Amino acid sequence: MSLTIAIDGPAASGKGTIARALAERLGYAHLDTGLLYRAVGRKTLQGMSPLEAANALTAADLGDADALRAPDVAQAASRVAAMPEVRSALVDFQRAFARRMGGAVLDGRDIGTVICPDADVKLFVTASDAVRAERRFEELRGKGHDVSLQEVAADLAERDRRDAARTTAPLLAAKDAVQIDTSTMSIETAVRTALEAVQAVQAKTE
Ligand code: C5P
Repeated sequence: MSLTIAIDGPAASGKGTIARALAERLGYAHLDTGLLYRAVGRKTLQGMSPLEAANALTAADLGDADALRAPDVAQAASRVAAMPEVRSALVDFQRAFARRMGGAVLDGRDIGTVICPDADVKLFVTASDAVRAERRFEELRGKGHDVSLQEVAADLAERDRRDAARTTAPLLAAKDAVQIDTSTMSIETAVRTALEAVQAVQAKTE
C-alpha cells in the first residue's frame, strides 16, 4: 500500500534530505513545499503582489533551484508565507500532490498539521540552532553564495521566529508526529530512523 508521508521542521533541520531519501527508497513522488513559497517570494522581489504571484505559479517557476535557494528569496518566502491568502492559494496543489497514486512525501512547515492532517506517517525533524546554521552555511558557500556563518544564523533565527509566530499554519509538530532530532546524527542514521517510522506504519497497514 502506498502512503502519504508528511515531514515538517525548521530550516536546515535535515527534513529535505530525509524527504528526498525516503521518496527515493520507497519510489514515491516528493514535493519540497518550501519551493512554492520561495517561488512566490521571488516573484514579489521582482515586483509582483504576493497573491497575484501565488495564483500565477507554474511548474516552470520551481525549476531554477539555485536562484530559489538564495538568502533574500528565503526571507521573502517566509514573509509571504505569513499571509493567509497566499497559503490558501497553495493548498489545493499540495493536497492533490499528496493524494497521488503510488505514494507521496511532502516536506514543509504545516504538512502534518494543515495540508495532510490524515497523513499515514508524520515526522517532525529538528536540530540545534548551531548545527542548522552550520549546515546551511556550508550549503550556501558550496553553491557560491558569499555569506558569513553569523549572517546565516541570523537569517535562520529570523525565519524561525516568523514561521513559529504567525497565526495561520505556524511551524508546529503535529500531536501524532514522530520527532527526530538530527543534531548528532549522520545522514544515514537520520534516514534509517525515518525509514523505521515508515516501516512501523507499513507493518500495521499490510
Ligand atoms: O523549507 P524552506 O526553508 O525552503 O522554506 C522557505 C520558507 O517557506 C520558510 O521559511 C517558511 O516561511 C515557508 N514555508 C511555509 N510552509 C511550508 C513550507 C515553507 O510556510 N509548508
